Amino acid sequence: MSRIEPAATLRQPAELLAHGLASPADLADLEKVAARYAIAVTPDIAALIDPDDPDDPIARQFIPTSAELAVQPGERADPIGDRTYSPVAGIVHRYPDRVLFKLVHVCAVYCRFCFRREMVGPGKDSALSDTAYRAALDYIGANPAIWEVILTGGDPLMLSPRRLAEIMSDLAAIDHVRIIRLHTRVPVAEPARISTELVAALKVAGATTWVALHANHARELTRGARAACARLIDSGIPMVSQSVLLRGVNDDAATLEALMRAFVESRIKPYYLHHGDLAPGTAHLRTTLSRGQELMRALRGRVSGLCQPDYVLDIPGGHGKSPVGPNYVEQTNSSVDDRDRSQETRYCVTDYCGDVHLYPPER
Ligand code: SF4
Repeated sequence: MSRIEPAATLRQPAELLAHGLASPADLADLEKVAARYAIAVTPDIAALIDPDDPDDPIARQFIPTSAELAVQPGERADPIGDRTYSPVAGIVHRYPDRVLFKLVHVCAVYCRFCFRREMVGPGKDSALSDTAYRAALDYIGANPAIWEVILTGGDPLMLSPRRLAEIMSDLAAIDHVRIIRLHTRVPVAEPARISTELVAALKVAGATTWVALHANHARELTRGARAACARLIDSGIPMVSQSVLLRGVNDDAATLEALMRAFVESRIKPYYLHHGDLAPGTAHLRTTLSRGQELMRALRGRVSGLCQPDYVLDIPGGHGKSPVGPNYVEQTNSSVDDRDRSQETRYCVTDYCGDVHLYPPER
């Protein structure tokens, strides 16, 4: 298939076809997918896709397929229970000390596995009205336990620098809000958007800003993406990463290793590797928990602690994130010396090669 570089974001199946990113035989199904879930492929992302590779890991993340029309038992519109924990529009308050603040419902790109795919995109939930925005700020202000506000969405970096500066300043004016974290894919999907003005808008007196970058394959960390992240980091904004474990994208040890190394080389601390959520029509992109644990074990043997994310599952229903292993420590039944009551249990600890050792060791 030959590719024509797009000048603007591709949003329609026919546009994907015209740019060599979909085949004519798939068009009817892709129209059905497009009627349900948003599509957006920026020129930066399109440039990363090899149209001759049917298994291209970038295409698998952004180019829709007919597999999305098959909804599996257990998949649900709100897989991590945002709505259950939303006391006012725009806020999700799941944990005592932090809230999600969902300002916009649009993204630069639409990921085919998105856990909020029923809520993001044109025609889904609309952006917060001014009244709803003020009510959300009032909610945060009235809850002194809220130490951290996480701007997510949609992608908060789709807002203009002027609007972001206002929001940052409104949040920082609340005494107990000390941390403002933004979750974004923009540095990868549209690096030029990380302008001097946008970086300046994110820095605010009275609160510390963190940025969490979502990327799933080392190829997304292009020279342009790394430079965009460097603009944020050089201005004093620390960055962490978020990735989703995806079948056919990053579910092998070498690919995960390359991704984590690319983050660390870019001064981004690997933070979370999410198990794929039960979003509708995403089964073809999910792995099993046991495969995820196997990969995390492999990663532990291949890269330093600096490159290790936490492998986490958002428990369906809104019960929050839990680390899901693997586990390296098991209690044995044998007791150590009874005279030392401070350590009366012995453990089996697995090392990075998979060998098991007793702790405390036998004398
Ligand atoms: S950028 Fe985030 S919110 Fe937007 S489609 Fe991708 S995963 Fe969903």
